[in-house]
Amino acid sequence: MSSRICIPREIMAEEGRVAAFPESVAHYVRMGFDVAVEAGAGHAAQQSDEAYAAAGARIVADAASLFGDADVVLKVKQPILNPTLGRHEVELMREGAVLITFLHPAAPSNHGLVRMLRDRNITAFTMDGIPREESHAQKMDALTSMSTVTGYKSVVIAADHFPKFIPMIGTSIGTITQAKFLIVGAGVVGLQAIATAKRLGGAVVAVDVREDARKAAVSLGVKVPGFEVPEALARGEGGYAKALPDEWLEREREFLRPLLSDADIVISSALVPGEVAPVLIDDSMLRAMKPGSVLVDVAIDQGGNCAATEGGRSIERDGVWICGRQNIPGSMPVHASWLYEKNMREFVSNLFKKGIAAPDLQDAIAARCLVTHAREIRHRGALGAMRAA
Ligand code: NAD
Repeated sequence: MSSRICIPREIMAEEGRVAAFPESVAHYVRMGFDVAVEAGAGHAAQQSDEAYAAAGARIVADAASLFGDADVVLKVKQPILNPTLGRHEVELMREGAVLITFLHPAAPSNHGLVRMLRDRNITAFTMDGIPREESHAQKMDALTSMSTVTGYKSVVIAADHFPKFIPMIGTSIGTITQAKFLIVGAGVVGLQAIATAKRLGGAVVAVDVREDARKAAVSLGVKVPGFEVPEALARGEGGYAKALPDEWLEREREFLRPLLSDADIVISSALVPGEVAPVLIDDSMLRAMKPGSVLVDVAIDQGGNCAATEGGRSIERDGVWICGRQNIPGSMPVHASWLYEKNMREFVSNLFKKGIAAPDLQDAIAARCLVTHAREIRHRGALGAMRAA
């Protein structure tokens, strides 16, 4: 009996990514899968229906029959209500099918979706569950891929709002000085923002609570003024950041205040896994920023590092632009998909390495990504968050 992989068109607003390019379709066909792609699925990522068909996919115009025929659905964003059909994408899937996508199952806003997947007996895997510390999982690390896009694009967004040059420019009538960047949070997003700001000719300062992150920033040749937090307070499970106690957050805000006043562009990307983002920039700090300066609050999907950021909007406050663009990778669909679909191909190859009839649920990477199976919720983070809610 054949097994069918389906790649739907993403229907979330302003989402241009796709879960497979034609190269991966050809790979799935070689693995033995039938492959169906929804018409127009790759359009925003510059992948034509013809290219998918040439790679061996069947092109399906109707989302309902595409989902309904799928044994395995590969997506980018979590399933949502299809407004054209008036039915939720989970309802369109047949019971017992496999779904692989970003689900962020611990986030309270997604608990209803997780229950829906459980009740429909979907075996769902989340791409944000890939264990990043395991070297053989690196090729599947979709979070790092998307953070790379976000870090780069955050600087481009800032440049677009900034009413000045970023590099130093010498002219016959004088010299324009270079823009000063402050990067708050030097994880994957922050480090890519540092690299991009430097390429544009900015002078960069970075801050992070973890020593590893500060060292990585220094290795990129930027200044890292020493806000040092005791290791036990800053580093949690797996070496990731921990939520700082209120007293230390207050100290950090005082430390950041003069750096913010001095900066032209601030990229804030400080996150603590599984928690809302720490609020590091309050209204009084914003008021102390220079008119014409720009803050891109990349942490907005987790609530934001600045109290004033509005999700999905750019607002001006006392001459300072505060940008709360959400889902930044979706706005750079070609390379975001190029990275994601390769991470997905590695994940699928590993998941079905014992045969395409069934996923290998014993595999250590698969087990970390499993969200629902056999009408049960299996994801530790989601279960913990649901109990706490
Ligand atoms: P993240 O998005 O969860 O956090 C972003 C950054 O915010 C982190 O560097 C964190 O230390 C920092 N932060 C948290 N609270 C802060 C505060 N109050 N003030 C300032 N900064 C604060 O993290 P991420 O970028 O997804 O990954 C973090 C780390 O994970 C990486 O730097 C790396 O060490 C590790 N990682 C490893 C691999 C791998 O081994 N393959 C892959 C990806 C990431």
